[in-house]
Amino acid sequence: MKILIACDMEGITGVTRWEHCDSTHSEYTRFRKLMTEDVNAVADGAFSAGVDEIFVGDGHNRGQNLLIENLDHRIAYNNGTFSPWSMMNGIDQQIDAVMLIGYHAKAGTGDAILAHTWSKEVLDLKINGSSMGEFGLNAMIAGYFNIPVIMVSGDQAIAAEAEGLLPEIETAIVKQAFGYFSGCCPAPEQTQALLKQKARKAVEKYFAGESSAPLKIAAPIDIEVEFHMPHMAEAAARMPGAERRSGRSVGMICRNVPEAFAAFRTMCNLI
Ligand SMILES: [Zn+2]
Repeated sequence: MKILIACDMEGITGVTRWEHCDSTHSEYTRFRKLMTEDVNAVADGAFSAGVDEIFVGDGHNRGQNLLIENLDHRIAYNNGTFSPWSMMNGIDQQIDAVMLIGYHAKAGTGDAILAHTWSKEVLDLKINGSSMGEFGLNAMIAGYFNIPVIMVSGDQAIAAEAEGLLPEIETAIVKQAFGYFSGCCPAPEQTQALLKQKARKAVEKYFAGESSAPLKIAAPIDIEVEFHMPHMAEAAARMPGAERRSGRSVGMICRNVPEAFAAFRTMCNLI
């Protein structure tokens, strides 16, 4: 069995501030180490349950956060940007299941640490009329390749968001959010034990046929992005095929998941 651990940073053990995830800030050094340790704990649990091969995708900012020299020696590390599938890079490499580690709730969620969708400029992303965050977007990409998402880690808000889409997903809640910038964060020793245990259980459920099915989105896919300011929607609407739907929102009807994902990334890059 080969899995992809696709990771982000805002949902990593101990993270409650943007400074923790900002490579120009002195605090970042501590949290990239914790991110690496969270990933190693997940990998350890997955290997112990019978996984043969692990790819890790680094999905935060420029995709160069994990410390390769400190990664479990059995892991292959996908890093850098721009990559074909962005946060899900590696998904097209004969993967059997995905774990989304260090994730955060979608933009606008209350009591959720650093809740956002892709960038601070996006107020909401709708796919076929349903509001989705990065979890839903990336689960949709996995679903396009017919791959299930079997585990998520982060605060209790992303755990609830993930269970809303995939009820059988294993959730590792590594912190309890009290607000956008606050939460109760157990020590790494505790969260890493939890991550290892949940990863092991997620793989066992996969082998037992008890994981949620891949997330399938019916095509054609209507993608709509609501931006923070009208001038952003103005810029995004210049993309061929896109239409302005309101002062702040732009939509596009796409033939399939790759096209919808490319449209979303392009809109976000145009603003
Ligand atoms: Zn991030």
